[in-house]
Amino acid sequence: MIGLHLGENMKQTKLTDIYRLLLELYGNRGWWPGENQDEIAIGAILAQSVAWQNVEKALRNLKQRGVCSLAKLAELEQDELAALIVPTLYYNQKAERLLRFARYFQAEAGYDFARLFSGEINGLRSRLLFLKGLGPETVDSLLLYAGDRLVFVVDAYTRRLLYRLGLTAEKASYDELQDYICRRIPRDLALYKDFHAQIVCLCKDICKAKPRCGDCPLREVCQAGRSGSFD
Ligand code: SF4
Repeated sequence: MIGLHLGENMKQTKLTDIYRLLLELYGNRGWWPGENQDEIAIGAILAQSVAWQNVEKALRNLKQRGVCSLAKLAELEQDELAALIVPTLYYNQKAERLLRFARYFQAEAGYDFARLFSGEINGLRSRLLFLKGLGPETVDSLLLYAGDRLVFVVDAYTRRLLYRLGLTAEKASYDELQDYICRRIPRDLALYKDFHAQIVCLCKDICKAKPRCGDCPLREVCQAGRSGSFD
């Protein structure tokens, strides 16, 4: 059960208010960074467990080599691809995952993103999750940002922020967190895209492992911030 331990004031805090406060601070983030669906999809797979700057270096390498599309990189040998994405760490695994996804993309949809991301969302999501190496965060990033499908992306930052705000339990599962958010915000694609981006920005900038609550726009609505836990 999520949220049963909360005080009344925290339970009444609206996620839409939290989004508005973050939007005032950071402005619309325009996520996901990428010139086209190929770049967004490749970036989403490369972004697993690594800072975005490293992903950018790998994307630059792919562009310089003229293979920054799933169709083109599928023609590379795995070790050739791995050499181009070394900055993203775990590059052998990621090369394998990229090639697996590219082959699936070709087989299922002939490299047509509209076909790949069409159809009933739960079935589509399950098929992508079935691909080895693609977890829920990556699959949901692909669906939301490359596929324009209405799926909220949850990550470790989301878990940490909602817990500190006093909205969800520390050990809430991915699905519980996703469900919690989706029940409380309007079903709006632009909002889904930007809210996740705002959470990432806040957690990298202010609500870090050691948070700077004094600089945080959410302090008045945050259980941890109001209690002075981190002062
Ligand atoms: S007040 Fe502190 S703990 Fe709460 S969201 Fe802001 S930085 Fe995080």
